[in-house]
Amino acid sequence: MDAQTSFLDKLFDRGILHSSGVDGLYARSGAFEDVIRRFEDYVLKIGEGETSEAMVFPPGMTMADFETSGYMKNFPQLAGTVHAFCGDNHGHMDLLECMATGKDWTEGQKRTDLALTPAACYPLYPILARRGPLPEGGVTVALQSYCFRHEPSKDPARMQMFRQREYVRVGNADEAIEFRETWKRRGKEIMDALHLPAHVDVANDPFFGRAGKMLGASQREQELKFEMLVAITSSENPTACMSFNYHMDNFGKAWGIARADGEPAHTACVGFGLERITLALFRHHGLEIENWPEAVRATLWG
Ligand code: ATP
Ligand code: ZN
Ligand code: MG
Repeated sequence: MDAQTSFLDKLFDRGILHSSGVDGLYARSGAFEDVIRRFEDYVLKIGEGETSEAMVFPPGMTMADFETSGYMKNFPQLAGTVHAFCGDNHGHMDLLECMATGKDWTEGQKRTDLALTPAACYPLYPILARRGPLPEGGVTVALQSYCFRHEPSKDPARMQMFRQREYVRVGNADEAIEFRETWKRRGKEIMDALHLPAHVDVANDPFFGRAGKMLGASQREQELKFEMLVAITSSENPTACMSFNYHMDNFGKAWGIARADGEPAHTACVGFGLERITLALFRHHGLEIENWPEAVRATLWG
C-alpha cells in the first residue's frame, strides 16, 4: 500500500471522509466541515477591513462565461460541462432501453447553459463587468465556490469537487500586485499560526498540450503564480494549499471590466484550498481534533 492510499484509507476508516467509489469525490464529516468553517471565519477576519463585498457562488457558471474564460483553450482536460436529457417520449424510451441493455444512455444528452465552475473567481468577473466602470481604487471581493476539475486521483488532496475561498483584487496593475504580495506574506503567517510547515514557491498552471508547455514556462518566467506548499501525501512533492495569482489584464479584457479611467482592469486573486488546508491539519496534527496543539485550536476555535 503506498503512502497516499494509506492516508486516504485512514480518513475513510475514521469517517472523516466517506468514499463514493469514484476517486476524488467524497462526502465530508461534520468534524471536517467544522474545521473548514473555522478556517474560513479566521481568514475572513484577516481581510475584513479591506473587503468591499462578499459573494458565494453555486458550483456552476454560465456556459457563455465559461467560454469567455478561455478554460477550454488552456485546460480542456480538466473541464466539466452540464448536459441534460431534452428529448420527447420517444427519446425517453430509447434512453431507458439503453440503460436496460447496458448501452451508453448519455449519448442523447444535450448541452445546457451551464458548465461546472473550474476556478472560484471566474463567475465574479462578468458580474463586475455588467456594473460598468469600477469605482476609483477598484474593488476587493471575498468569495467562495465549489470547483470541479476532472483529475481523479487516489491522493485525497486532489479531489474532483472541492471548495476554494478567495479574495480577488480588481484595480490597476500596482494594486493587483501589491495585493498579491500582501497575501503571500499573510499566507505564511496563517500557516505559522496553524503550525503547518509551509513554503512559497513560483508555480505554473497545467496548460494543455505542446503549446501549453510554453505557456507554463512563460507564466513561471513572469512570476504570475505562486503556491503555498505543504507536505500532505508526499514530502518530495508537497501540495499547493493556497495560490497567489496575478492575471494582468487578461480577465479585465476578456470580460470587459473597465477601471474608473476606462482602462481594462488588472486582477489578482489569493485562493485557499479549503479541503487541502483541512487535510494538511489532519495530516500534521493527527486525526483526533481534540489532540491538536492548543495554539492551533485557539487560532481556529478562539
Ligand atoms: P495543483 O498544482 O496541485 O494542481 P492548482 O495549481 O491546480 O494546484 P489552483 O488552480 O491555483 O491550484 O487552485 C487554487 C487552490 O485550489 C489550490 O491552491 C489548492 O489549494 C486548491 N485545489 C486545486 N486543485 C485542487 C484539487 N484537485 N482538489 C482540492 N483542492 C484543489
Ligand atoms: Zn482566482
Ligand atoms: Mg491543478
